[in-house]
Amino acid sequence: MKPIQSIFDQFRQRGARLTPVRKAVVSVLAKSKKPICVEGIGSCLMRLGLKPSKVTLYREVDFLVSGGWATVLDLGGGRKCYEWASEHHHHLVCKKCNRIEELDAHEMESSFVKFEKSLSRKSGFADLGHSLEFYGICNRCQ
Ligand SMILES: [Zn+2]
Ligand SMILES: [Zn+2]
Ligand SMILES: [Zn+2]
Repeated sequence: MKPIQSIFDQFRQRGARLTPVRKAVVSVLAKSKKPICVEGIGSCLMRLGLKPSKVTLYREVDFLVSGGWATVLDLGGGRKCYEWASEHHHHLVCKKCNRIEELDAHEMESSFVKFEKSLSRKSGFADLGHSLEFYGICNRCQ
């Protein structure tokens, strides 16, 4: 992962303002080991003495997602989580408690790459990628 300071430099290069809330959202997301929802980011910021509105928080995460610094994880039912963009991986999501496990997908990845190549030939789409989540009921919820 890139040092946070270099990310702030990228913001400046793109003419984006470096507000205290923006800095704090970046550091919360970058340090979080798991995807985190906007409410979770909000309570982390609260501990730092910041109280941004939900609208501001959503604007900040959208800004980070559109710039490619963060990724969105759809939990279904309109619920979303955010995580710092890192190496490609997948998730295992509990449909009941929204617990999220990080999945190291190395064994699956080679077949996906093969599939994407043939899909690319058939569809004419170039530069294919994927995001993949597995949904189920975790052992605590069963
Ligand atoms: Zn669960
Ligand atoms: Zn993840
Ligand atoms: Zn993958």
